[in-house]
Amino acid sequence: MSGETIKQLAQSMKVPVDRLLTQLSQAGMSFSDPEQIISSTEKMKLLGFLRRSHGKDAPAEGESASPRQITLKRSTRGELKLSTPGGRGATGGAKTVNVEVRTKRTYVKRSVIAEEAGSDVEREEAVRKLQESQAQRDHEEIERAEADLRRQEEAQRAEEAQRQREAEEEQRRQQAEAEAAARAKEQEERQAAVEAAAAARAEPALAPAPAPAPVAAQPVEKAAPAEPAAVQRIDHSSLGMIVPTIHEPRRREKKVVVTPAPAPAPAPAPAQAAAAGAAAAPASGNKTRYAREKDEGPGGKRFAAGELHLSDADRARRSSNNKRGGKPGRGGSGRDMGRSNSQGSSGPHGFTRPTAAVVREVMVGDNNVVADLANKMAVKGSEVVKALFKMGVMATINQTIDHDTAVLVIEELGHKAVAVSENNAEAALAAHTQNAELEGEKKPRPPVVTIMGHVDHGKTSTLDYIRRTKVASGEAGGITQHIGAYHVETPKGVITFLDTPGHAAFTSMRARGAQSTDIVVLVVAADDGVMPQTAEAVQHARAAKVPLIVALNKMDKSDANPDHVKQGLGNLEVIPEEWGGDTPFVPISAKTGMGIDDLLDAILVQAEVMELTAVEDGPASGVVIESSLDRGRGPVATVLVQQGTLKRGDFVVCGIEYGRMRALIDENGKTVQEAGPSIPVQVLGLSGVPESGDDFVVVADERLAREVAAERQLKRRETRMVSKANRLEDIMAQMGQGAEQQTLNILVKADVQGSVQALRESLSQIGNENVKVNVIAAGVGGITESDATLAAASKALVIGFNVRADASARKVIDTSGLDVRYFSIIYDVIDQVKQAASGLLGKEVREEIIGIAQVREVFRSSKFGAVAGCMVTEGTVKRSKPIRVLRDNTVVFQGELESLRRFKELVDEVRNGMECGIAVKQYNDVKVGDQIECFERIEVARTL
Ligand code: GDP
Ligand code: MG
Repeated sequence: MSGETIKQLAQSMKVPVDRLLTQLSQAGMSFSDPEQIISSTEKMKLLGFLRRSHGKDAPAEGESASPRQITLKRSTRGELKLSTPGGRGATGGAKTVNVEVRTKRTYVKRSVIAEEAGSDVEREEAVRKLQESQAQRDHEEIERAEADLRRQEEAQRAEEAQRQREAEEEQRRQQAEAEAAARAKEQEERQAAVEAAAAARAEPALAPAPAPAPVAAQPVEKAAPAEPAAVQRIDHSSLGMIVPTIHEPRRREKKVVVTPAPAPAPAPAPAQAAAAGAAAAPASGNKTRYAREKDEGPGGKRFAAGELHLSDADRARRSSNNKRGGKPGRGGSGRDMGRSNSQGSSGPHGFTRPTAAVVREVMVGDNNVVADLANKMAVKGSEVVKALFKMGVMATINQTIDHDTAVLVIEELGHKAVAVSENNAEAALAAHTQNAELEGEKKPRPPVVTIMGHVDHGKTSTLDYIRRTKVASGEAGGITQHIGAYHVETPKGVITFLDTPGHAAFTSMRARGAQSTDIVVLVVAADDGVMPQTAEAVQHARAAKVPLIVALNKMDKSDANPDHVKQGLGNLEVIPEEWGGDTPFVPISAKTGMGIDDLLDAILVQAEVMELTAVEDGPASGVVIESSLDRGRGPVATVLVQQGTLKRGDFVVCGIEYGRMRALIDENGKTVQEAGPSIPVQVLGLSGVPESGDDFVVVADERLAREVAAERQLKRRETRMVSKANRLEDIMAQMGQGAEQQTLNILVKADVQGSVQALRESLSQIGNENVKVNVIAAGVGGITESDATLAAASKALVIGFNVRADASARKVIDTSGLDVRYFSIIYDVIDQVKQAASGLLGKEVREEIIGIAQVREVFRSSKFGAVAGCMVTEGTVKRSKPIRVLRDNTVVFQGELESLRRFKELVDEVRNGMECGIAVKQYNDVKVGDQIECFERIEVARTL
């Protein structure tokens, strides 16, 4: 205390330095400089003077030079912005709360306390009470807040340490009594000190003044622990003296009103709180909340406003709170009782654990997703997985288990399995179509023909020749379009050809779509003889029980040797009619057209023998031959009508898709109103892209269509999961064999669905003990960014069959170093993968794209037809190299350049960033936005 300058004293007293100096001089001490040191004696002198000047005797004066007690105060004001929820009161929005924190430290001399404790207690009490009531009047609000805080703080403390509390309380009572004793002295002194400081500001009354009576009764010896009491008091005040002032009156929370202070001294505090509550004093609501939040701060576990779930302890506490609320007089033992009660009956929001096991009836279908089963049994998915594991079935929660396994696992878990009759909509559909079939009158229908054969034996040429001469004939300027099938009208009858992309595509179509084919025409080049795929085709046709017609092609060639072919086929038990067999052999030439009519005749004769019939009237049904997603027109599918007549506007279910037939388009690109049996049409209006081989059926209304489609979708998803599970098993089996076998992941994108399926199935079959080929994904359309990402993630080889990667995909490919290969011949794909899988490393012919030009404008020239004004965007376009025309990253034409020009000059090559004019040989359909891709075939070392 000594060694304080006047300036410092003025600061701590919170009076201006000048004023302090004046007072000092009035007291007979002359100080001129605020930096001068003021001694304790001088301070006491000042105090005495001030007391006298305020009409009081200075009891301490002359007795001791040193102060008996010094009280320091500090108050800080702050503003707190609160956003209150609008729903809670009439007024929502932000609120400003003024917060004043007042700290008071009192230092008391031990000897003084001991001495003063013995002085006139009654007088002190009277003085104290007087002061207190005055202070209370002045600072009622402050006290109330403090009372709340204290009550809550103590209540919480009590809750958290129930047992210890008893002992603690005892101790605290003693402390408080000591404290009260100390304060009794201090009260008097404080008044003096305040005056000494000449503080104009309000004096905060400290706390609701616990226990006057005990103080009176307190023996003098208790003064000894006064210092610890003072220390505690410091803590207390700094904690408790937070006085929020709220500008809006709010209804006081009931809880606060009824909560009694579990404080050691019962008398004044509750009375004050109750009085304040009754007076509906302003600002209690927020204050309480604020206080509560503060309570929770230092590790309090009270339930917060947003807390929905209560732990046992919380619940117990809450119920004990209520209890106390109801009976305010209760002590600690009462709280204990409340807790035990709360455990016995769990209250209105409690959860009662069922005592008996619940047996549930679980619907079991043919395929059941584990997670669904778990849901139905109300158990965790992992429990079902565990039960399955115990039964020796490995399945994750996303996998599907069959009916029997599902029944076993359900019973294992103590529930009841109920078989469910599935596919109500499907049954309705079946009944619907059966009726139509039975009722209708059967009429002859055209045969549906598929052409098969070894690569380069002339399938495409034969089909092209027929189409060129038979389909488009008479259609002036008619552009035949590739719809995957077409029908020809000959004088003797109509024939429908399925124009599937190659032999491999048929291989995949066979399983689902062979029913669609009535006759297989096996094209064998007379100059080449029977080749592997010829033999395969024979097997497929036989397996499908479809009659064969052999077309001996390339008969125009000088080295044609039909007998050699006949011999070879004879070995496969395909015996020509002239040799006593049942297979017609027709020598043709797809180049000259020789024998084509004979071939058509042979087909019609065969069809007649087969007596192909179909119901022409009534709702149509059939099969999907090909499908793709068209940017402008949406899902496009070529369907072959097999029964009934498909009309525009019909509602159909098509695989897992459905829709209303917006338009029917024939192979000439003409819109037709209807299509009868064996007639292929392209249809628009489906909800999605169906798969090749999917069946379609016309239904009475859209509702049934949608229902069936939804049911099928679900089923297909489930079966997909089954097949996935099998694949995982494969991998497990592979793991059993050791780490030798490698998996070659492949992602396939192709221009049409038929190719996708062909590739997927052909590739999946490749594999040996070293390598296993796994087609991770396959789809129609250009290679997109998501494809590339997927492939990169699974380290897959990407195969683009007549499709290309788009710009964003190319970025991913570049950064991730993906292996992307483009093909236009299915066999190349299969061969490459096959050879890679068998470890035949050597040379391979690969197509390298050397330049890409973007079509910016199209000019019509009488000399060259369409000339594309292009900008070379990548690499170099060379005149001598083959090109492809791409639209939406899909190959629409492959051929050669007619001419390559820059400013009317013929040039050999055009580099990146330059403009040029390109005319494509035999292709006039170039459009703005197309890409012209220039490529070359190079030999590269083969890598796996
Ligand atoms: P695909 O692979 O079975 O579809 O066979 P293509 O139709 O593509 O024909 C392969 C090659 O054989 C082409 O270069 C055709 O020009 C040629 N070609 C097809 N048919 C004949 C034919 O009857 N005579 C001759 N000389 N060449 C033919
Ligand atoms: Mg071909």
